[in-house]
Amino acid sequence: MKDKLQILCYHGFETYDETSFRPKLFIKKATFNKRLELISKYRFPVLTLDDALYKLRNNKLPRNAIVITIDDGFYNVLGIAADILNAHKYPVTLYLTTYYVQKNSPIFRLVVQYMFWKTKKREVSFGGCAWNKNENMDVRIDNDKERERIIWDCIDYGENECSEPERMRICQLLGSLLGVNYQQIRDSQILSLLTLDEAKLLDRKGINIQLHTHRHYFSVDDEAKAKKEIVDNRKVLDEIVDYPTNHFCYPSGIWNKDQWPWLEQMSVYSATTCLPGLNNSECPAFGLKRFLDGEYINEMEFMAELFGFMELARALRKKTKDFIIKWTPDFRQ
Ligand SMILES: [Zn+2]
Repeated sequence: MKDKLQILCYHGFETYDETSFRPKLFIKKATFNKRLELISKYRFPVLTLDDALYKLRNNKLPRNAIVITIDDGFYNVLGIAADILNAHKYPVTLYLTTYYVQKNSPIFRLVVQYMFWKTKKREVSFGGCAWNKNENMDVRIDNDKERERIIWDCIDYGENECSEPERMRICQLLGSLLGVNYQQIRDSQILSLLTLDEAKLLDRKGINIQLHTHRHYFSVDDEAKAKKEIVDNRKVLDEIVDYPTNHFCYPSGIWNKDQWPWLEQMSVYSATTCLPGLNNSECPAFGLKRFLDGEYINEMEFMAELFGFMELARALRKKTKDFIIKWTPDFRQ
């Protein structure tokens, strides 16, 4: 695959059981290590993001070039991933979202979802809980619809109407109602982002840290709000690194082309999406594609992606679809 750049994307690294909770969001240490061993075994060159983008634009990419990126900045990037990457001497770019970097608490919405996943209780009474909007106080946890409703009522209430200390109290109460130890979740940092000092340690280990918004949100229709996210994010990153931060990753993979001039005005040079595929010199700098790896991908799928077979399959699927559209009579005429 000459002149094609593969950008890999990771999120969290498992300490206990996070890959069973969210196999797309987390990966086991052994799986991640194996991935890097495979990249090394087949001698795929791993480049820094800056170097790869320069070579991509100037048609100087080596064959099978790879860039490794990590989103969000979970604590275990330091606890697990950094040492594995350093052992292989592979460069990595970490897109760090900074709101929780400044708080000393795990990510509220993930904690709520994790505790409902973890609980062994089948029915819980949420009488007296401010977020329970339903008159029925007893909720069947084993009923998907009832469980999802109470989870999102709780998340919406906490995120929209509460301060961080209030959210922590909700987690504490939820933990005791569901029989899940919230303190342990906090102490183990499994659902926490890096603190400022931990992020500085990563910087000292040579990990490149870049933009991912402050509150993990990038408005698609409010320019001022979107730009403020970059300003606030950059302000915290400036305390961590001593180089300019001008690479960006769209939070939750949500983006549109209207945002591109805003990025340009904020001196951002590149932006990565969650769209699968390889990048060539024609790819727009603010629409770079990535392969989302995680525990949900098996080794054969990973290898197929690495060797470009999946790109071929995607192209074939598109061609077949175009062919069917072209040759299927339109009965509406
Ligand atoms: Zn993210």
